[in-house]
Amino acid sequence: MADPAECTIKVVCRFRPLNSAEVARGDKYIPTFKGDDCVQIANKPYHFDRVFQSNTTQVQFYNAVAQKIVKDVLDGYNGTIFAYGQTSSGKTHTMEGKLHDPEMMGIIPRIVQDIFNYIYSMDENLEFHIKVLSKTNLSVHEDKNRVPYVKGCTERFVCSPEEVMDAIDEGKNNRHVAVTNMNEHSSRSHSIFLINIKQENTQTEQKLTGKLYLVDLAGSEKVGKTGAEGTVLDEAKMINKSLSSLGNVISALAEGSTYVPYRDSKMTRILQDSLGGNCRTTMVICCSPSAFNDAETRSTLLFGQRAK
Ligand code: ADP
Ligand code: MG
Repeated sequence: MADPAECTIKVVCRFRPLNSAEVARGDKYIPTFKGDDCVQIANKPYHFDRVFQSNTTQVQFYNAVAQKIVKDVLDGYNGTIFAYGQTSSGKTHTMEGKLHDPEMMGIIPRIVQDIFNYIYSMDENLEFHIKVLSKTNLSVHEDKNRVPYVKGCTERFVCSPEEVMDAIDEGKNNRHVAVTNMNEHSSRSHSIFLINIKQENTQTEQKLTGKLYLVDLAGSEKVGKTGAEGTVLDEAKMINKSLSSLGNVISALAEGSTYVPYRDSKMTRILQDSLGGNCRTTMVICCSPSAFNDAETRSTLLFGQRAK
């Protein structure tokens, strides 16, 4: 059973390889790795719970970072995994990867598979109710009882991994994309995937609930570099504010502060009951290894260090 007082926050860091454009341009590969928990940029060390080098495969990353959380959620904990980093640093690769490719799929499809494999392996006295919510371009509102909810999105019950993948594909089709100079394929909005698991033993009537949020955060790059203007610039400022609020909440939790500023952003209000109390939180700090992104990479690493 879950101990409600117990909460853990882990911060891991993953570097992607240089991409073909960076190699063609002759960009320098800047990180050097020290053991499995430290990376250095220009002789300055940054420590994390784990650091993953550029050649880490999807399955290696899953086994090291996400597998344990699945077990915890099935034991009744609430969990959250965030991917933080600038556009093109590997956040979506890490969270989703290629959804229907067994080798290249990221942690979301692997988690879904593991959860269903667990359910299929359990005896018939256990009844499972699985609900998922998949949404990009997060917009949070409050109902008349001041309970936050995500607009334009309904949770749905699912019975198979395929139904979960359908929900994710639909969530993506609704995506609002503001094209930036930095990367045409990335939008600056948060994507959130929630899987809610209720178990009931039909003989003993014992119940257990756990939920897991998987969040692909909007790119953390500074506004100047993206060439944004007007509405897009205003949106970018909002995003930077929500990311810094998230950083404040995580560092307050990591320090064990009595005051945690959940109400400062929509994201942290929605995630409140999965970030504090009975929870398992992992922040994945995604980084580019190219000298071209040096400044963003350092600021990303510093963000991750604050959460430790
Ligand atoms: P983000 O979501 O942070 O904007 P992406 O996940 O879309 O970045 O990654 C940008 C590109 O780099 C994609 O083409 C992706 O497949 C590739 N990529 C990212 N991380 C890795 C990795 N660890 N190994 C190989 N390719 C990667
Ligand atoms: Mg992305």
